[in-house]
This record gives sequence, structure tokens and C-alpha cells, in this order.
Amino acid sequence: MTQEELFKKLIAHSKEYGFIFPSSEIYDGLSAVYDYGQMGVELKNNIKKYWWDSMTRLHENIVGIDAAIFMHPKTWEASGHVSAFNDPLIDNRDSKKRYRADVLIEDWLAKQDEKIGKEVEKARKRFGESFDEQMFRQTNPRVQEHQAKRDQIHERMTKALNDNDLTELRQIILDCEIACPISGTRNWTEVRQFNLMFETKIGSVAEGANTIYLRPETAQGIFVNFLNVQKTGRMKIPFGIAQIGKAFRNEIVARQFIFRMREFEQMEMQFFVRPGEELNWFKQWKATRMSWHRALGFGDDKYRFHDHDKLAHYANAATDIEFEFPFGFKEVEGIHSRTDFDLSQHQKFSGRKMQYFDPETGESYVPYVIETSIGVDRMVLQVLSAAFTEEKLENGEERVVLRIPAPIAPVKVAVLPLVKKDGLPEIAREIIASLKFDHNVQYDEKDSIGKRYRRQDAIGTPLCVTVDHQTLEDRTVTVRHRDTMEQHRVAIAELPSIVENEVSLRTLFAKLV
Ligand code: ATP
Repeated sequence: MTQEELFKKLIAHSKEYGFIFPSSEIYDGLSAVYDYGQMGVELKNNIKKYWWDSMTRLHENIVGIDAAIFMHPKTWEASGHVSAFNDPLIDNRDSKKRYRADVLIEDWLAKQDEKIGKEVEKARKRFGESFDEQMFRQTNPRVQEHQAKRDQIHERMTKALNDNDLTELRQIILDCEIACPISGTRNWTEVRQFNLMFETKIGSVAEGANTIYLRPETAQGIFVNFLNVQKTGRMKIPFGIAQIGKAFRNEIVARQFIFRMREFEQMEMQFFVRPGEELNWFKQWKATRMSWHRALGFGDDKYRFHDHDKLAHYANAATDIEFEFPFGFKEVEGIHSRTDFDLSQHQKFSGRKMQYFDPETGESYVPYVIETSIGVDRMVLQVLSAAFTEEKLENGEERVVLRIPAPIAPVKVAVLPLVKKDGLPEIAREIIASLKFDHNVQYDEKDSIGKRYRRQDAIGTPLCVTVDHQTLEDRTVTVRHRDTMEQHRVAIAELPSIVENEVSLRTLFAKLV
């Protein structure tokens, strides 16, 4: 199965089992907007809890807030979003389709990489055992030619983006002879800047309608509340403020399922430090955040850092944590050393002091900030794509199993009476009553026990508890484990502690640095 097929299956599976639905589907959906179903919302909430607790409970000096989505419009002037939160877009005059100019070029670059990859594979087959890939790449004239052209275009694109040179971006598209995938023509408009913020009006027109924005990131809600939290919480630097909330971006190219959405959720933490100490903290947060991802157990080689060569004007270090999705390594989280840019800008635009008096040094200063910013939806996609497995069993049957880490699985335990009579459902209900205040538990009595196991595997339930006739005699039940499919008999009285040991978030927290 190719990665593309795997991804298609994953999308279909997410819908079939109630994880993710296209938004307003009965009206044919809304591009790049999705709804979470009954399983998806549980998974999402568990991911949020894993993040929230790891920030606010495991760190004495981090507290949370929940700021409004609407903010005073000046916020976005101060932050630079009004003038600079843009993507370069281009239209095809024949298909009337709109594209991101840089994405068209990136797709072209990816095609060159594919061409090179094909040459390498052909040669590998031809040379067999003795094939030296590195040598081939360095010496084969066709590969060299493709590579040189690719590198030259990459360099031109990077420069054009850095210089904000829209004419050059268009020229690259023409030089590469990039055609619109829909119309097949190269009838392109000029490249224009397109602001990604959604606008709306606040207040009635009579009072003077005022344009405001749906926030494109949650971070600014933290910055404008910096002093409120610092003073009321008596916070001492270094300290952090965490927030989970919706953000909105009018993405031009929306694809790859929930990877790039127009309405999505972020988990952001701004950590305020003394000027000069920020790069040490940046290093520390890189390690802390990577260990949070790795604790999920999908394999360390699934993650990598991608340090930014080109830094935003306000940052003095930045990196992405990338995860290997079925469509390649892509960003799930950004870690940025944002200097004192945001607080200083708000100080300038609001006329209010955004300074901290440091009792240890006796000085007042605008703190520096390290930001960790992660998309909840990209985390959901990370978990689903790492967890989705098709297995052939020893008896020849196949099963689809979501190997979601137990502490964040949507349903923790399914309780299954073997038959719908003889008092077995009653005992099952009794077991559920003993677990449901602590865990999300499901009852299922329909179909054969095998089918019921398959259904639970498909939504990633780590434990199934089966009540049978022996239960009536000795009050024991069978516990079946999702991943190994091993079963063992235990006393009903032991269930709460068995479940707790298996599904507690504590097992993840214990692995964090
Ligand atoms: P990208 O380069 O992929 O557009 P970004 O660098 O603009 O992302 P940030 O502004 O750093 O992203 O946002 C922080 C995090 O928010 C990202 O790492 C990602 O997980 C998430 N995120 C950003 N944009 C989207 C989106 N359109 N849909 C879903 N998640 C998003």
C-alpha cells in the first residue's frame, strides 16, 4: 500500500468511525473546515488534557488563561498581522482557480525530486547489490542536471519570498512552465498579496460599524494579558502563560485533510524570561517539547527538528518539530524565540507600560519570550496516522486497529456481556458503574464477541472486558488487550486498578524530561 492509499484509507476510516466529518456535509461540505464526531472529540479533548496538564501542572511557574477570540483591532496592527500576515496568490485566468504562488513552485520542486528519485530507483535495479547511491547522485549527468535546475529555482524562490518580490515569483512560475492542474494552461494573473485574517463587523451600523478580525493565533491574547496575570498571580520571571483556543486563517491552499484548516485550534505557551537568557530557555523548551511528543511512543525517528534559516524580523531563533505524516515530514509545532517584540509593540500601540520589575536585579524591563505553538488538529492527525494499522491475523482474518496510546484513546474500556441474558448484562452495567466516574466506558451487547472486538479495535479502545457465565460463579471476567489481543481472567474487584494503571496520563507524564 502506498502512503497515498494509506492516507485515503485513514480519511475514510476517520469518517466511518465518527472521528472527523466534513463540515456541513449535507450541503456538500465547506472547503478546509471539519467537524469532530463522537470519537474525534474525545481524542481531541484527551490530547488537550495531556498538553494542558503537562504545562500547567508539571510546571509550578506556568498558568493558563482563556482569552476571547475577538480582540481590539489595534492588537493586530501592533502584532504586524494587518500589514504582513500575507500569502502570495496567483489566479489562472481560464480555470478561475486561485493558488499560492510559493506552493505552485514547491510542488514543481517536489516533482523534480520525484524525477531524481525515479532515476535513482532505475539505477538501483540495474546495478543491484553493488549500487552506490551517493556516488550515482554525484556523477550521473541526468540527475546532476535535474538537481542543478531544482536548486537554482529553490534559491530564486527563497530570495523572492525574502525580498517580497512578487514579479519574480510570477517569473519563476513562467520559467518553470507551470500549468494550472485544472485548465492545463499557463494563463496566469499577476501575483498579489492576500491577507489571511478573516474580517467581520462588530456593533450595529448605526453606532459606526467597526472592522474586527477573527484571531489568526491565540498568542496575542496572552501578550495583552501579560501584566494582568503577572500581577494578580504574583508571578515571578521566568514564568509562562498557556492557552488553548480556536484560531482562523483564510488559507488559500487548503488540502491534506485536517493538516491545513481555515478554522483550527492551537495550544500555545508564552514563556517570559530575562533578556539575555532567552537562548538557554529556547534550548530547554526544544528538549521539553520533543520529549512530550516522543512520550507517545510512535518512534523517535518519526520526529525531527527543522531549524529556520530565515528568521522573522522579531525572532532570534526558531525551529519546527516535524512529524512524518503519510505525506512526508511536516510541521506540527513551532518553537520561537520572539525577543521582546510583541510586548514592546503593544507598549508602543497602547501607550501602557508592559514592563516587569525584577526584585532580584532591582531593574525594570520588557521580558523576552519563548513561544511553543502547536496545532491540536495536527496532533489529532499525527496520532491517527501513527495509530492506523491493518493487520493480518494468524487465523487469516484481517483487522484494522488504531494503536492510540491508551491514555489518550477516546474510549478506555468496553464492557461486553457474552450474551444478552442470564444476568450477564446486569453485571456488565455494575462494572460500568464502578468505572464511569473515572473513565470513558462503552457498553456493547450487539453481534458476536469477535465482531464487537473488531469494532473496539477500529476506534482504538485499549481494553475490552467480557462478562461470561463463569462470572456468575466466581465474579471474574476476561480482560482483552487491544494491541496484543492477549486475554486473561481477573477478579471484577481488581478492574479499577488494572484500568487505571493502563490508561492513566501518569504513564505519559513519567516519561517527560
Ligand atoms: P504552516 O507553515 O504549516 O502554515 P505556520 O508556520 O504558519 O504553519 P504557526 O503560525 O507557527 O504555523 O502556527 C503554529 C501551529 O499551529 C503550527 O505548527 C500548526 O500545528 C498549527 N497551524 C497553523 N496553521 C494551521 C492550519 N491552517 N490548520 C491547522 N493547524 C495549523
